[in-house]
Amino acid sequence: MTGKGSSMRILLVDDVQLDRMQLAIRLKQLGHDVEAVSSGKEALSLYSQFDPELVLLDISMPEMDGFEVANQIRKTFPEWVPIIFLSGHEEPEMIAQAIDAGGDDYLIKPVNKVVLNSKLIAMQRIAYMRRELKQTSAKLEELNTLLQLQANEDGLTKIYNRRFMDTKLEEVLALHGRRKASMTLILLDVDFFKPYNDNYGHIQGDKCLQNLATTLNHLFERAGEYVGRYGGEEFVVIISDSDIQCASKHAFRIQNEIHNMNDKHDHSSVSDRITLSQGVISFEPKGSESLNEVYEAADKALYQAKQNGRNTYVCGSFK
Ligand code: GH3
Ligand code: MG
Ligand code: MG
Repeated sequence: MTGKGSSMRILLVDDVQLDRMQLAIRLKQLGHDVEAVSSGKEALSLYSQFDPELVLLDISMPEMDGFEVANQIRKTFPEWVPIIFLSGHEEPEMIAQAIDAGGDDYLIKPVNKVVLNSKLIAMQRIAYMRRELKQTSAKLEELNTLLQLQANEDGLTKIYNRRFMDTKLEEVLALHGRRKASMTLILLDVDFFKPYNDNYGHIQGDKCLQNLATTLNHLFERAGEYVGRYGGEEFVVIISDSDIQCASKHAFRIQNEIHNMNDKHDHSSVSDRITLSQGVISFEPKGSESLNEVYEAADKALYQAKQNGRNTYVCGSFK
């Protein structure tokens, strides 16, 4: 971008009509879209609607001088737009004050044609770079959010992955430890999934895991409830503020919903469809528990459920 020939929306504020008109004409000749007003008040009320890319601001004006207008613009409109002050005064103090008031440059009146054009090009360049930077930051932020989501998501089932569930479990343990409240962890394992894969194929196996994940996810959508893939054909559910009575109701509900999925499994010894075994533990954390200990306790209960014939749940203990 050279700046030459590209048009900018310029808000020109000058109380002296002759100065204002001359400059407006010059700017229009350079191809810019100009809105010329005679006071700060008018400039401020027009600002949002005109949405300027550059403000040319006379300093000495009655009522509200240029410094105050610049201050108001900076305070009211968060989007940075370059402000160039216009003044007949050339004193260094005046220039310093102008920059201090939020101005970006200073032009001495009467404005020299060549100087004006050069400064416009320079401002245009800065404005363009800022816009690019803003777009890049927005894109980066979007990508970051996406990455964050992907980092917490299981690729196959799109529910939370083990990493996320570990972090969540730590948090929930600490929170319930502080509040002296009971929480529940359920480990679930698909029954006879190896024969399912062997007979229906791995792709169908993947689909089955996806359906199971979706069903489980829909069952636990309240705040403080989390469903994740623990690994392979195992899932994990964390339920906040849940004692063992509450937990066994949840386990029963899961069993029912999986039954209602009616995903045919002719090679299971316990049912005509896909089933799960569940290891359930409910406890009031003390705050000193390790994740391994907690998972181990749930795994023990799960193992017991398998021993008890599968397609069932066992509420184990954890102390
Ligand atoms: P049990 O009732 O004792 O749990 O028997 P099982 O056959 O389910 O247990 P096993 O551990 O022998 O087999 C688990 C199977 O799950 C084997 C493995 O190929 C399959 N599996 C694990 N992850 C995936 C996956 O992502 N996709 C598919 N399709 N299969 C998977
Ligand atoms: Mg398993
Ligand atoms: Mg299994």
